[in-house]
Amino acid sequence: MSFTLFRPIAAPSVIGLADGNNFYVSCERVFAPRLEGKPVVVLSNNDGCVVARSNEVKALGIAMGTPVHEIRALIRRHRIQVYSSNYSLYGDLSARMMTVLGQFAPRVEVYSIDEAFLDLTGFADPALLAYAQGIVQTVRRWLGLPVSIGIGPTKVLAKVANRIAKKQKIAGGVVALLDPDRQAEALAKLDVADLWALARAGRRSYGRWALTPPCGCARARFD
Ligand SMILES: [Mg+2]
Repeated sequence: MSFTLFRPIAAPSVIGLADGNNFYVSCERVFAPRLEGKPVVVLSNNDGCVVARSNEVKALGIAMGTPVHEIRALIRRHRIQVYSSNYSLYGDLSARMMTVLGQFAPRVEVYSIDEAFLDLTGFADPALLAYAQGIVQTVRRWLGLPVSIGIGPTKVLAKVANRIAKKQKIAGGVVALLDPDRQAEALAKLDVADLWALARAGRRSYGRWALTPPCGCARARFD
């Protein structure tokens, strides 16, 4: 007697996380190319706090969520371009970005306005890297939006890989953490507070538990 009928459907073993770089700022730049290379911030609904920063603004040390009244002097000194948030614009470009991403993967799980997990199972390395770089180039060419893609065997590792791609400004915008040695190295350097749910849950309560691979959290997969 065979039980193959009851074998669970295999979870994807290669997951990509596509994430827009400085998404709201990048959306503003699509319609105002003069903002390229200039420091730009986007403010929250009531124009109270910084909710998106260009790389130039990050380099000035202005943190996410900073109340705008605290940086008036910096805005003047560095001629930072300040924008009110325009969520209909960001939502529209987000939908277009997800549509483009959907052409490159059989399954796309939209995670936030500018993030989506892609099932990249079946694309072998090194073709995988070139394939993902092709996605980055296509989104840039078709929509004018810069994105980075992190690739890993789990969602968490895809997120970690994406973080590395962004922080280290990796050429091509893609980092893959499919090799156990690279995973161990990346997780050892990881600041837990950098990662989403863990960041919100608080650095102190989690301590360093997630830094030692493999951990349950690093194995989280598609639902
Ligand atoms: Mg983003």
